[in-house]
Amino acid sequence: MDCIFCKIAEGVIPSNKVYEDEYCLAFHDINPQTPIHVLVIPKAHIVSADEVTVENSAFVTKIFEAIPTIAKQAGLVGGYRIISNCGEDACQSVKHLHFHLMGGKKLPEQMG
Ligand code: AMP
Ligand code: ZN
Repeated sequence: MDCIFCKIAEGVIPSNKVYEDEYCLAFHDINPQTPIHVLVIPKAHIVSADEVTVENSAFVTKIFEAIPTIAKQAGLVGGYRIISNCGEDACQSVKHLHFHLMGGKKLPEQMG
């Protein structure tokens, strides 16, 4: 499958890794939109939040269990925003579920 995040999860494409366990990988976004911008991905190919099912939801649970550790390791000490773009209207560009952890400064209340 031609999925860039599957390749990153397999280590075929390098990433600037923050955290890894059996279920997920966290790495710095290549085009950061905030001073600290980390992506967290499941190690299974799930297209988006819209494709989460009873069969694969454990990956989402495990990701959220890991997020406090990932945030600490990334230096997100003042808080952070979690975003997951899902589908065309949200401008999802990589069709492998991912959570943006964004922070490192006070973020605006409105998304614009
Ligand atoms: P989205 O638009 O929500 O699908 O987010 C995809 C994100 O993946 C964007 O913020 C990109 O900058 C990021 N991205 C794409 N390719 C890579 C890569 N090879 N390494 C790190 N981040 C990437
Ligand atoms: Zn994938």
